[in-house]
This record gives sequence, structure tokens and C-alpha cells, in this order.
Amino acid sequence: MLVNLNTVIHDAYAKKYAVGSFNAYNYETVKGIIEAGIETDKPVIVAFGAKYLENMSLETVSALVKSMAENIPLPVCLHLDHCSDMDTVFRAIKAGFGSVMYDGSGLPFEENAQNTKEICRAAHACGISVEAELGSLASGSQSHEGQDSDQEAYTSPMEAKLFVDMTKVDALAVSIGTVHGFYKGTPNIRIDILQDINELARIPLVLHGGSGTPEETIEKCIRNGIAKINVNTEISSYAVDQSAALLSEKRPHFSVLSLKQSGYVKDVVKKYISCFGGMAAGS
Ligand SMILES: [Zn+2]
Repeated sequence: MLVNLNTVIHDAYAKKYAVGSFNAYNYETVKGIIEAGIETDKPVIVAFGAKYLENMSLETVSALVKSMAENIPLPVCLHLDHCSDMDTVFRAIKAGFGSVMYDGSGLPFEENAQNTKEICRAAHACGISVEAELGSLASGSQSHEGQDSDQEAYTSPMEAKLFVDMTKVDALAVSIGTVHGFYKGTPNIRIDILQDINELARIPLVLHGGSGTPEETIEKCIRNGIAKINVNTEISSYAVDQSAALLSEKRPHFSVLSLKQSGYVKDVVKKYISCFGGMAAGS
């Protein structure tokens, strides 16, 4: 069934587990994510980045996810990931997404808050959830999302509280030391900052840059308010590496169907779902 973000993350926040948000770029990746959800019986968030619009339109991905998810019992949320263009966010709301992320993290605080508030008003009127971002993640290797810079800007707990009060946003992406892409060195995740944000903001928090984050760090994050964890880079790089290995075998009569992208995606998604905790979706 198709659900909005609040349907899955409020339970996760209350019971201290996280729902995985996995990036999908095409039919095969959507299929792999939903199949991983079905096999593990855990809700999934299919995240479509605003940057993938040159590959597939909002209307197409919405129709695709709807056709695959509306008649199964598994909760599936179609989410617009990292979108800094307000018109595109409004189009996603119209196209049937269950959740949108407006990324104004590159803007001054006031402007980010005003824009997020306007989007919340429109989205909430349609029963759609909104995620916003405060602070800025640094770029690791192979990063291809977000409004990254070389230097991270940690989220201020006081600003997070003010932002949530002003905007009525449903979920807040925080910057606490994870990176978009793979880590270049040992990650230094500031659980102390996360604890303060959680105590003040009191809404489900979102961890971007899940790829390669150590399992014990993920557990600590979940205990301190993280209810949604984004995984992107590892899905893409694993599928590419596996496809390259297959191609290098130079099999005769090689077909594009042999690439088995959805299977590779499913493997990565299942691995992350297993360390995010939570009860089965059907229980
Ligand atoms: Zn991100």
C-alpha cells in the first residue's frame, strides 16, 4: 500500500527503530527496493532524487511505484529526495508522492524556514509529509546528491527547535558528521549534538549518508531520534560493480536483461534493513 512518510516514521520514532530510505533511479531499482521490503516484511521508502529527473519524470516514477505498491500489504512511501526547487516540490505533490524533501540547507536560516513553511502548508493540505534539512553534510567519495560542501556544517540544536516550531515540518534531516558518498576516513559522528537536537526538536530525525556508516553508530543514532536513514551511494556503486564484473566475463549472447540490477539492489537494501531494527510490517 502507498503511505505518506508520517505513517511509517512516527511508529519508528516512538519504538526506536529506523525506516530505510533507498534511492531509486529506474524501474529495476524500484523493483529491487520493494522486493527487499516484501522479503523482510519491513516498510520501505523509495527515494527519487530531484537530480534523476533527466532520467524519469515525476509522473512516470509516481505511476510506476503506484502500480507496484498499491495492491500489496507492505507500506511503501514514495519520497522526493533533496529538492531545492520549490516548483518541482509542488509538482511532486501533485504527481502523487507521499513525501517531499525540500532542501533549503544552502540558504540562510530565515529563507529556508519560510520556504519550508510554505511547502508544509501545501503538502499537509494534501496529506503529504515534508522533510527539510538544516546544516550541511560534507561530500565523501562518489557523492552525487545533496547540497554538499567540502566542510560540513553541524546542525545547531537551538536552530533545529526554532525551525521545527516555525515550519511544522514532519521530519528533519540533520548534519552530525555523516557524509554524502563513501567516507574518506574514519567517520566522527557527533551523537552528543544529535541528543541535544532530539531533546529540543522532538520530531523524527533523518540521517543522510547511511552508506558505510558503522552498525554501532547507526544503533546509537536510532536510540537518539533518527527514524529514517537514507542509503544511496552503496546501492548504485554495488550494482555498477556487479554489472561490470558480469560484463567482463564477456559472455556470448549477452543481453541487458542479464544485468539483474534489481537483484543487486535488493541485496544492499536487505543488508541495511536488517540493521535498522523494527517489527515486521505485518505484525
Ligand atoms: Zn542526502
